[in-house]
Amino acid sequence: MQKVVLVTGGGRGIGAGIVEKLLQENWQVAFCGRREPAALAERLQELTDRYPGDRVAYWQCDVSRAEERTGLLEAILARFGRLDALVNNAGVAPEVRRDLLEMTEESFDRVMGINVRGPLFLTQRIARYFAESGTKGTIVNIGSISATVASVSRGEYCISKAAVAMLTRLFAVRMAEFGVPVYEIRPGVIHSDMTGVVREKYDRLIAEGLTLQPRWGEPEDIGRAVAMLLRGDLAYSTGQVINVDGGMEVQRL
Ligand code: NDP
Repeated sequence: MQKVVLVTGGGRGIGAGIVEKLLQENWQVAFCGRREPAALAERLQELTDRYPGDRVAYWQCDVSRAEERTGLLEAILARFGRLDALVNNAGVAPEVRRDLLEMTEESFDRVMGINVRGPLFLTQRIARYFAESGTKGTIVNIGSISATVASVSRGEYCISKAAVAMLTRLFAVRMAEFGVPVYEIRPGVIHSDMTGVVREKYDRLIAEGLTLQPRWGEPEDIGRAVAMLLRGDLAYSTGQVINVDGGMEVQRL
């Protein structure tokens, strides 16, 4: 029987790269996002044409809203009969980049709600299901190099990704007895809508040597890393961070 994965924020950007790669690797893929199903209809049709046989489905679910998260797992189980993996990918940057000294509580709450509270309680729900059903599932959190690299123009984002790093470690500890590994993938600078607003800045920084590998990351780079983890290729490495950043974090003199 095909295994089933839930990818949050799978409709575009990095999430779409993850969905595509997992479909290639024969997973059944449930994905969610904020947008109405009608907005995803074309994308869904295109995926269904390329990967026939009831392999992919979309749910509208704002992960920051408890009432929208409720019932998501049950809907996936009703549709596919099982769930074997969770990829917490959905995430946002601040709507406005503001200096740390000007950061607002509203922006902090928004970013923390989507990037931390959402994945925390979605993971809690699915981790309970794994434990109760005896499913040896896998959990992957998409963090960011911003967990350790300080950007004072988006402090709330950095704080949220530092929290995702601890979320990974906490669930790795708690779920070890159930045989459920938990990982964090830490992307660097990846082509997506999120980085669209700073494209020229990163073009320049990459040309100046920001990354050891002189190119932008692509969503499929992250998709390949997720697929490796879900295949079980790093089965003895729960709680670990996998950097997918072109060597950006290697310190140099
Ligand atoms: P995009 O802005 O391109 O896409 C964001 C995705 O998340 C969309 O599918 C969006 O759904 C979904 N999403 C946003 N808010 C919510 C919500 N409240 N509930 C459900 N889904 C939501 O971003 P990226 O693809 O670049 O980012 C994906 C992840 O990777 C994020 O966690 C980000 O922090 C992380 N990351 C990105 C990097 C980069 O360079 N791009 C670098 C490091 C980390 P919808 O289409 O419905 O709005």
